Amino acid sequence: MNRLWVWISVVIVGVVLIVTLFPFVYRSITSDMPPRQAYGIPFDERNPEGFNPDEFREVIEMRFWTNLSWTLAVGAVVALIAGVLLTRWLVAPLRELEQGARAVTEHQWDYRVPVRGSAEMRSVALSFNQMAAELEHEETLRRNMLADVTHELRHPIHIIQGNLQAILDSVYPLSMEEIDRLLDQTQDLTSLVDDLHELALAEAHDLPLHKQDTDMNELAANAVDVFLPLASHNKITLTTDIPSEPIYVNIDSARIRQALQNLLGNALRYTPEGGEVKVILGRSEGSTLIQVADSGVGIPPEDLGKVFDRFYRVDSSRDRELPGAGLGLAVAQAILQSHDGRIEAQSPGVDQGSTFTMILPIEG
Ligand code: ADP
Repeated sequence: MNRLWVWISVVIVGVVLIVTLFPFVYRSITSDMPPRQAYGIPFDERNPEGFNPDEFREVIEMRFWTNLSWTLAVGAVVALIAGVLLTRWLVAPLRELEQGARAVTEHQWDYRVPVRGSAEMRSVALSFNQMAAELEHEETLRRNMLADVTHELRHPIHIIQGNLQAILDSVYPLSMEEIDRLLDQTQDLTSLVDDLHELALAEAHDLPLHKQDTDMNELAANAVDVFLPLASHNKITLTTDIPSEPIYVNIDSARIRQALQNLLGNALRYTPEGGEVKVILGRSEGSTLIQVADSGVGIPPEDLGKVFDRFYRVDSSRDRELPGAGLGLAVAQAILQSHDGRIEAQSPGVDQGSTFTMILPIEG
């Protein structure tokens, strides 16, 4: 029971007990002494053991005031010592928190406070450290973002520039094929800029949503239909497990379809020939679940938590050969979060497939 209220109560009860018990302790110490010695009354030859009646009232008064003074003095000293110790014990973690807050304000993102003191203080310190870790992570992402955006934009721009220059220098002919290639590059640029724009809107909670009751069965089936030609081209079996009774959820269907298509696109991209991709629709504890499970390259456990970060790609040498900038999952997660939902990633490991689950609250 390392709780603040327990410690304060123990100290208060301790002081009250000492103050209350002191007169009894004092009395038990002095009870064996002759009365005159116990109360500090000068020895009287005529009456060596007791008091004469005139002295009686005086003795009672003296005894009362002596006891009261000692009790108050001992109580004050004990309360003072206990108060100083308790306050120091209480204030030490608060000072460390204050230092931590100042350090984080000065952008020392790796600063963490020691977790100690009462249960409440430990909980505050833990929350503070969690907040600092989250800020540190966000700061790293923010710093990487600019470098990544520049890098991703530079690649298609260089290709467009180089090819146009080659056409001007008559190195390449001005053919429809070449124009088509250039158009592809501009489309990559457009989708990159669109993804970045959507992410920025979603993170600022400004993503416009046009919600309406949507039949999820139809939405999932339509999204799968779009990918059937690609699946057959890649020799991948694309199947569905969709219940017959409709599941209605209040969502922006275009955005949720886009999130599902990002997951499906990934599943087909990261599953080799002969593999399987399955879309499963179901319900669980007030939520609608849409799973995209594949038998593809899988995700190492240490990367599972990072795949939703902007521009994160698991194995850059492998992924670099495949299209995509590492924004698809970040955009899909942002869309789900704007619907009060989320996406979870699971994978038993490399080459053992992956399952991405979109979780949407039923009320949408
Ligand atoms: P990308 O455009 O690179 O696919 P995403 O944000 O969609 O970007 O995915 C981030 C990374 O997560 C990918 O580069 C890939 O390494 C990994 N990933 C996503 N989906 C899968 C999947 N179904 N199987 C294996 N790895 C995946």
